[in-house]
Amino acid sequence: MFPVFASTRAKARAVTCSSHMSQVAKAVISYSYDWNRALPFPCNEQDVNNWWTNTWRERVLSYVGGDSSVMLCPIPTYKPEPWVPKDMQISHYGMNFDLTHPAFSQLGTPGPYGFTFSYTDEISDPGSTIMISENFDGDWSGEPYEGNPQHMAGCSYGPGTFWPYHNGRGTFAFCDGHVRAMTWKEAEANNFYLWKKYKP
Ligand SMILES: [Zn+2]
Repeated sequence: MFPVFASTRAKARAVTCSSHMSQVAKAVISYSYDWNRALPFPCNEQDVNNWWTNTWRERVLSYVGGDSSVMLCPIPTYKPEPWVPKDMQISHYGMNFDLTHPAFSQLGTPGPYGFTFSYTDEISDPGSTIMISENFDGDWSGEPYEGNPQHMAGCSYGPGTFWPYHNGRGTFAFCDGHVRAMTWKEAEANNFYLWKKYKP
């Protein structure tokens, strides 16, 4: 393929990814309006043996008209975790881990897996807080890369690790619904500022 066509195709895929993620972010916001501003619970904490069922993605599916293709980047290179059944591999868009788990911020009392209910009105700066990122392996979560070479190796070590599928950039949706492409460095600047639910 001529480079010019390749780059046009790459740009088209990035645009499609942004459009998809924008729809998913709006779906999460609509969901929260229907649930007293609560964000969808990230995974199935009621049934810890099947935690990958009924993740936030299934919970917001009806808000994108039941069309799971909207939850996919057009670049089909993600590596789903092997224990997740094929029909559950609907997406590699992950919800920012820090929104529902005290990864960086201090949240409320966590449940068995450490997740907690989280409300959109607790997010002090929605326009600077990541809601969704693309991840490497089809996990429910989106997490920073953190410069960890183990994460680079992928799969078993860092499920949910952000991955830049689009020419060094990855697509991110923020809690106010806007979408932006960023590099690893941009996404992790200022000690992971954009990932933190509660800003320092
Ligand atoms: Zn993408």
